[in-house]
Amino acid sequence: MNKIKKTFDDYVMGTYTRTGPVFVKGKGSYLFDEDKNKYLDFFPGWGVGILGHAHAAVAKDIATQAKQLIHVPNNLYSPNQALCAKELIKASFKKGKVFFCNSGAESVEAAVKLAKAYGSDKKKTEIIAMKKSFHGRTIGALSCTVQDQKQGPFQPLLKGIKSAEFGDFESFKAQVTAKTAAVILEPIQGEGGVNIATKEYLQKMREFCTNNDILLIFDEVQTGMARTGKMFAYQYFGVEPDLFTLSKGLGAGFPIGCIVVSEKFETVLKPGMHASTFGGSPLATAAVLAVLKAIKEEKVLANVKKKEKVMAKRLNALKKECSCIKDVRGVGLMWAVELNDNAKPVYDELMTRKMITNVSHNTVMRVMPALNINDKDFDKGLSMFEAAIRNFDQK
Ligand SMILES: *Cc1c(COP(=O)(O)O)cnc(C)c1O
Repeated sequence: MNKIKKTFDDYVMGTYTRTGPVFVKGKGSYLFDEDKNKYLDFFPGWGVGILGHAHAAVAKDIATQAKQLIHVPNNLYSPNQALCAKELIKASFKKGKVFFCNSGAESVEAAVKLAKAYGSDKKKTEIIAMKKSFHGRTIGALSCTVQDQKQGPFQPLLKGIKSAEFGDFESFKAQVTAKTAAVILEPIQGEGGVNIATKEYLQKMREFCTNNDILLIFDEVQTGMARTGKMFAYQYFGVEPDLFTLSKGLGAGFPIGCIVVSEKFETVLKPGMHASTFGGSPLATAAVLAVLKAIKEEKVLANVKKKEKVMAKRLNALKKECSCIKDVRGVGLMWAVELNDNAKPVYDELMTRKMITNVSHNTVMRVMPALNINDKDFDKGLSMFEAAIRNFDQK
């Protein structure tokens, strides 16, 4: 057995199902294993790798900052966190504030705590979450992740979390009481298998929440940072939440998360009510500043829109051709090909052919390449994917 894999077996807790070789290096849309084999990564970091691997400018800025100042506690000042918050507000609400943490689940925890704090004066203690959602594995975030399989043995979870069908406004309304403080949803459910909300649904939610003093929270951990062809998915739908979470693509691989809060709710969390030791460190926010700069300079939004058209055309053509495909759906560079059967054989074949993809809920293949992927790698990846699906279809 491979030495590193054996060391994993011996010393790392078995909370993950790992496959493939041992990767030691990345560059752009490729990963390299111990034997210098090259794998085309069409699912970099589960949506994290928006700029591919080892992006030169981001790596350089991280290295420079690491030599200068890695961490200062949040009771002291340093420049990057402030500059980073300013950029995020400029790109979103224009007026509002940001709280920084270190991961997606933590950003959801911050959103849940803000909702609870907002509701506490008004005796509003309930939060509505969506079925098939994914918000993370910590207890608060898991309480909002309405999937039996994930909540399983961890019951009882947080009190006061109710659930509604995603995309069904009446189902949401049926859960609302005088105690509803907030509703949390992903505008496009990621782990749930790329389930896309309609604009009408989100508009209705917005109107109802405004009229009933309910916080509308979007979890944009996966959809944020240009994934949809807009900087944030709410801009794609044209429906503004009261606050939203970011994490996966925010540091393009460097761990960081945040909530971006609109002006009206920016003072709900007061001094001492929430904190994070590492949150928004000089090093992490240097990474974010470099990512934001790269998105602009490399015209990443334009690339996503251009590639979205090709993806839509080719995957829809593939659906027409292959009866094994149940559905094709997506926005920007966030796509799903849902099969009628278990998709694991397709995943395995692609891994053998040295391409990395993803399967969620057994039948849904997620296609989410880096947002700055070049034409050549994009075409190559799509061709390999099409070939694997055709093969599977003939079996
Ligand atoms: C991945 C994800 C999370 C959890 O992020 P972690 O960094 O793993 O805690 C939360 N919400 C959404 C929408 C996600 O896709």
